[in-house]
Amino acid sequence: MDTTRHDSSKFTLLERPEWYSRFRDKYVRTSSCWEWIAAKKKTGYGQFQLDGKTVSAHRLIWILYFGPIPDGMHVLHYCDNPSCVRPRHLYLGTHRQNMNDKKIRKRVSGTRNPNAKLTDPDIEEIFRLAQRGLSQRAIGASFGVTHHAIWRVLNNKYTA
Ligand SMILES: [Zn+2]
Repeated sequence: MDTTRHDSSKFTLLERPEWYSRFRDKYVRTSSCWEWIAAKKKTGYGQFQLDGKTVSAHRLIWILYFGPIPDGMHVLHYCDNPSCVRPRHLYLGTHRQNMNDKKIRKRVSGTRNPNAKLTDPDIEEIFRLAQRGLSQRAIGASFGVTHHAIWRVLNNKYTA
């Protein structure tokens, strides 16, 4: 089955920048989330028309900032706000991971502590994300820790 046909990451976004001026008018930057104010799905995810196709706004902005989305991966929100398109509030993961993370965030609730402790599963995930080419800053944002903490993890210097 050809799954790449519907993958918005295959659009040559940067070669055709004219869409971005339309895109930019459709969200408002707040001090926390960047709120999508145009068309949304019932679930709250921002929708954007590109080349006659409807694409998810948060996936599009991910591609713009970080590059193509690997097959089978989802762009997830660590802020739990589906209409948010702020790149640092987004991270790549599986659908199952999203469900697990939501459970964890419900327990933790509130804003993330910059000195939050990383668990062993977190550390495994950080190595996976780094292998996929994510920057330490982007990984740090998704775990609510600084990029220094991510650097320490990747250099085996992290102590919880
Ligand atoms: Zn957000």
